[in-house]
Amino acid sequence: MIATRTWILAAAVAMVMAACSSVPITGRRQLNLIPASTMLATSYQQYGDFLKANPASSNAEQVALVRRTGGNIQKAVERYFAERNMGGQLKDYRWEFNLVESKEVNAWCMPGGKVVVYTGILPVTGNEVGLAVVMGHEIAHAIAEHGNERMSQGLLAELGGVGLSMALEKEPQKTRDLWMTAYGAGAQLGALLPFSRLQESEADELGLVFMAMAGYDPNEAVAFWQRMASQKGGSAPPEFLSTHPSDATRVANLQKHIPEAMKYYPGKK
Ligand SMILES: [Zn+2]
Repeated sequence: MIATRTWILAAAVAMVMAACSSVPITGRRQLNLIPASTMLATSYQQYGDFLKANPASSNAEQVALVRRTGGNIQKAVERYFAERNMGGQLKDYRWEFNLVESKEVNAWCMPGGKVVVYTGILPVTGNEVGLAVVMGHEIAHAIAEHGNERMSQGLLAELGGVGLSMALEKEPQKTRDLWMTAYGAGAQLGALLPFSRLQESEADELGLVFMAMAGYDPNEAVAFWQRMASQKGGSAPPEFLSTHPSDATRVANLQKHIPEAMKYYPGKK
């Protein structure tokens, strides 16, 4: 009995070790238990459902702005990975940048590069660089696989590691349930649960590098987050703020990482 238990434990440990990966740029080790293929398939389906249920913006100029800014950041991400021989990690990405008509001050990126920007956030982003701050940050969450990490933590908490692969194989519903927990449910799909403080700071760090590589001055990130913070007083606090607390800690973290990001900025002074 003890031998069996030891074996199960060893198998679980081996699986967990195999699922360890590291985040680009920060190099932080993380645990991602959900196979990439599962993450992407779920993402693509949920993204399609979201677009069917939510009206696309008919403002051609703003739609073009979102596509251009997103496309520039996509190219920066692809270049970053290609230069490090990691391009394969992006091969199943199906990038998409859509602007949805909504008063909500919000934006997000699902695994595989599926981005939604709400028209309600455009007055806060103000211009293309401000939008690049938001899109760089959200794309960074996806690139750093923060959704998978959060779902993996949920799985571990629930199943204790043992029987995990069995659960994933035989209970696809479980994976879907976890997805809904991690990414919000139904009409609330866009309303992500808050990422952890660590993931937020990591997305800021990666986002600064990607926006800089795309030709946007990373110094503008501080001004954007300060504009965002000043929205707090409104009658309906923006959705984006509930998942992205904008405070002194965030600003200090941004300022700490800007000098590194500037090394990637082609127009550096
Ligand atoms: Zn974030």
